[in-house]
Amino acid sequence: MDKGGSRVDRGGMEFPRLQHAFFTQRLELRHPWTIARGTAAFKEYQYVRLERGGRMAWGEAAHNARYGESLASVRAGLEAGWALVEAGDLAGSAERLSRLGSGLPRAAVAALEMALVDLEGKEQGRSAREVLGVPEGLPPPTSFSLGMGAREEMQAKVREAAGFAVLKLKLGSDRDRELVQAVREVTDQVLRVDANEGWTDAGAALRQIEWLAGQGVELVEQPLPAGRLAEMAWLRERSPLPLFADEDVVERGDMARLAGAYDGVNLKVMKSGGPREVWRMVQAAREAGLQVMLGCMIESSCGIAAAAALAGAVDFVDLDGHLLLAQDPFRGLRLEEGRVLPGEGPGLGVEWVGSA
Ligand code: MG
Repeated sequence: MDKGGSRVDRGGMEFPRLQHAFFTQRLELRHPWTIARGTAAFKEYQYVRLERGGRMAWGEAAHNARYGESLASVRAGLEAGWALVEAGDLAGSAERLSRLGSGLPRAAVAALEMALVDLEGKEQGRSAREVLGVPEGLPPPTSFSLGMGAREEMQAKVREAAGFAVLKLKLGSDRDRELVQAVREVTDQVLRVDANEGWTDAGAALRQIEWLAGQGVELVEQPLPAGRLAEMAWLRERSPLPLFADEDVVERGDMARLAGAYDGVNLKVMKSGGPREVWRMVQAAREAGLQVMLGCMIESSCGIAAAAALAGAVDFVDLDGHLLLAQDPFRGLRLEEGRVLPGEGPGLGVEWVGSA
């Protein structure tokens, strides 16, 4: 939906006007995606396109039902968030969004914010990293995630992922050990495990983690359901592996209470409302003594590009969402020696090549 004319007349002078459009795009997955919560064959998300003076900027809202978001709620959130943007000048609008948009679906705020960062970067000839004020750094290699599957299917996925230094296994079912053994039979790659809240008993989780430590697993993400921080503190005291929060960390204010219960946090642009807020959260996590992983939803390389702008400043990277797609509607993001790197161009460094 496009709104507004292309020019604003101010006393006879013509200035390029900022136009916006929201649209839906379906993303087919390379393989059906199964985690502890369920299975998906495709994703359908809302996108933002901004245009001014012939430059296009992009945003993606990879919403997640786990955080109470839907395609419809995100669409409403985009409309409401855009009203906040239009109420102020563009330079201050990303700031306004993170301040006033806190009641909106965070994926919607993320999409608007990344599009504004993209536009600002493109208009100023600067990268998103520079716009965000993130120091330059070489990001750690990304892990590549394997959803749950049958034994042969898992082993075939491991072979496809031979170029990645680290694999992330989605566990949290009664087949956990069988899956890890199937993967270990065909690879020596470092493994990370994400239980996605799938283990419900702290004692059983500890036994599982002790066993995983003997399988060359580097760390474990979200072993118990979110909110069980006393049990997490008990588990962390005894765990031979570092424990990372994912579903347990959404806002900057979460850091202080997580510090005794986890060793690190998995931060995501979509989960927390955009790259500016996640950059603030990276710094808050450091202050709380937490290690930082930068993660993602299943999303195109548009959303991943917003995270890639921060990736040189974190300890662990899990930015593989776009690699799980059959077709990525954006082009420009780089993958070099297992590292996800921003595109060469200004802003997010990605351009739409889809058909919407
Ligand atoms: Mg996770």
